[in-house]
Amino acid sequence: MNDSALDRVIQSFAAMPGIGKKTAQRLAYFVLNQENRFAVDLADALREMKEKLRWCERCYNISETSLCSICSMTNRREGLLCVVEDAVNVNNIERSGSFDGYYHVLQGVLSPVNGIGPDELRVNELFARLDKDPISEVILATNPTVEGEATAMFLADALADRNLKITRIAVGVPIGGNLDYVDEITMAKAITNRRPLL
Ligand SMILES: [Zn+2]
Repeated sequence: MNDSALDRVIQSFAAMPGIGKKTAQRLAYFVLNQENRFAVDLADALREMKEKLRWCERCYNISETSLCSICSMTNRREGLLCVVEDAVNVNNIERSGSFDGYYHVLQGVLSPVNGIGPDELRVNELFARLDKDPISEVILATNPTVEGEATAMFLADALADRNLKITRIAVGVPIGGNLDYVDEITMAKAITNRRPLL
């Protein structure tokens, strides 16, 4: 027997990251209880997003045009390139207002157990870009997870022979946080990565 439309919606929601079966059910019933317009708008937006969005030809961020909104800006620092895992990271760094260079989106991290090597990521595109663009510093801003660290180390190694400054984003205690609640690994990193104040 085929699944009902409701089951299919629940399964689709449950396939999304961070959403379990219960939340998926709650979301599906929420949509069901809204005016028809809500579901139609949601379906239209999803279809339009899939039809319109593509990868930026330069940085592999999501974009509606061949160059994304950031690559289209001319007032950013040409020499500074921030390498991130995915487009969400670009958004987060942009929101912080702390970075005025350009990005390169790897579209994932190295994960040998999942069969993801450099060829599955936008690594060759990164090397090609470094061959032709006047970049002086590469900031490796992959997540501070095991895979993110391994990806950063791989890239640092692969880029070592180039005339580039290679930096890694800092990790440590959160702003406004209390040291009592910081886990041991983060605490160890914060001590190792301490900086002089004077
Ligand atoms: Zn771009």
